[in-house]
Amino acid sequence: MSIQRVGVVGAGTMGNGIAQACAVSGIEVVMVDVSEAAVQRGLVTIGASLDRLIKKDKLSEAQKAQALALVRAGTDYAPLADCQLVIEAATENEALKVKILQQLDALLPPQTLVATNTSSISITKLAAATQRPDRFIGMHFFNPVPMMALVEIIRGLQTSDATHAAVEALSKALGKTPITVKNAPGFVVNRILVPMINEAFFVLAEGTATPEDIDAGMKLGCNQPIGPLALADMIGLDVCLAVMNVYMAEFNDSKYRPCPLLKEMVAAGWLGRKTGRGVYTY
Ligand code: NAD
Repeated sequence: MSIQRVGVVGAGTMGNGIAQACAVSGIEVVMVDVSEAAVQRGLVTIGASLDRLIKKDKLSEAQKAQALALVRAGTDYAPLADCQLVIEAATENEALKVKILQQLDALLPPQTLVATNTSSISITKLAAATQRPDRFIGMHFFNPVPMMALVEIIRGLQTSDATHAAVEALSKALGKTPITVKNAPGFVVNRILVPMINEAFFVLAEGTATPEDIDAGMKLGCNQPIGPLALADMIGLDVCLAVMNVYMAEFNDSKYRPCPLLKEMVAAGWLGRKTGRGVYTY
């Protein structure tokens, strides 16, 4: 199945990024959110992001106009019924996602594919909440979507080969590099990244090196663009801790034990950039 029109549920950070990536690649998009204000915020973000690409000579004014003309946005779900694929990118809350997916299931023709951009909820479990588990898949984009090349394509237990092939082809049409992942907590990237960040907190807690030297070590020694502690401050220490708690619960393996220093800093409200203080002070 070739996908020419994509629906996106949620016009927030990820939803508007996914809509932009589709539109810039010449794919029609229907983007929906719960309020007109959220829809408008999404559209303004897309406009500003396209303007930045124009400033960097990566896009022309004409291409911007072409892309914006491909985006239909609103609060009504009905136009999603004309899409070949609908990507759910709403707030990370399992009950909310199940409600949205069941609403989509009732609205969409049987052949329509449904994907979720969830970071942490089981794809197999969300698929099982629908009547189309074979036509359901995870499409995990990275933030900011227009800049980041990777899409993790997560197959649930019941995802069909045809669904996987269609979504893989779409990811390539968006100029992304897809990797295929079996459903498992954290998929691939966060499964490796967050325990690495947790380990950096252990190294810090043991007084092995200063935060600056830990980050410099990983940047210069491993060619990482940002050190793990600075990255934790960007992601949010609370988010990192929540992810480690999920791994600990799901795998029941002490190698995922959250670092006590990380827990202590979260308890203090030192959550990173968003609170002005994390490992570093902002
Ligand atoms: P966000 O809070 O920026 O946006 C979520 C949007 O969903 C909001 O605009 C909200 O109004 C909307 N929404 C809520 N209920 C809705 C409904 N019933 N119908 C339509 N829209 C609804 O969140 P985000 O950061 O864009 O995250 C969205 C999803 O992407 C989550 O599942 C998250 O785990 C995942 N994700 C986030 C990132 C990231 O770095 N932010 C990266 C990868 C994946």
